[in-house]
Amino acid sequence: MRIVSHIHSSDFSNDGKFSLKDIASMFKRRGVSVIFITEHSEDMNKNKMSQLVSKCEEISNNSLALIPGLEFSVKEGYHILGIGVSKFSKMKDSKGIIRFIRKEGGLSILAHPLRYKKNDFKELKEINAIEICNFEYDGFLPRLSNIELFQNFKENNSGIIPVSGLDFHRKIHDQKIFIKIEDTKVEKNDILKKLKEGDFKLEFNLLSINSELKFNKLNHILFKSNSILYDTGKRAGISLFSFLRKINLK
Ligand SMILES: [Zn+2]
Ligand SMILES: [Zn+2]
Repeated sequence: MRIVSHIHSSDFSNDGKFSLKDIASMFKRRGVSVIFITEHSEDMNKNKMSQLVSKCEEISNNSLALIPGLEFSVKEGYHILGIGVSKFSKMKDSKGIIRFIRKEGGLSILAHPLRYKKNDFKELKEINAIEICNFEYDGFLPRLSNIELFQNFKENNSGIIPVSGLDFHRKIHDQKIFIKIEDTKVEKNDILKKLKEGDFKLEFNLLSINSELKFNKLNHILFKSNSILYDTGKRAGISLFSFLRKINLK
């Protein structure tokens, strides 16, 4: 089953361009069964949160689930995704938010690590996951510095998992970057359990890697060149992508 993560809608995020309904039909065409919605917490309150939860329920059906959630902007400068939270929290510190997400039965994810070059990440010891590839910040493949950060985290937190995210706001973010799990119901608790257990794969167009992040030299070179190209300009990153498509990389 295909999951897309880190999705903003125009219904609840000020910078989203598509409604939840449009998002559902767009990703259904991509063969997606689960959509992790992550609206900006700054745009939300208690009332709007319950609207988000009911709207997600309304649009979901047997073959497609919209899982509500938030992107919390905290005082240490991090953006922390709370996947599957159905309550709002005004808390502004990383530790409190991570604990809140856990209490809600959700999954906490450090979004786009590239943004926090000067931070020491010490408040994030208990986070569940790191976005090793955020399409908006990293392009079509994981960024090597994100993978290194993930591996550092893993030394003290063996249960941490790597995830991908589209950071979907606009059409350009509709990309074939999926989290893939097998044999499970389209149901929040089952899905989050599988993810927390590391029982999933990450798919980047033609390339697929498992949650252990074991990859070969070729992948290493690809991740590195992708990051360099993407940093020199998104267009260069996109050309690399079309090149990879042509050589049909396995
Ligand atoms: Zn963000
Ligand atoms: Zn975002």
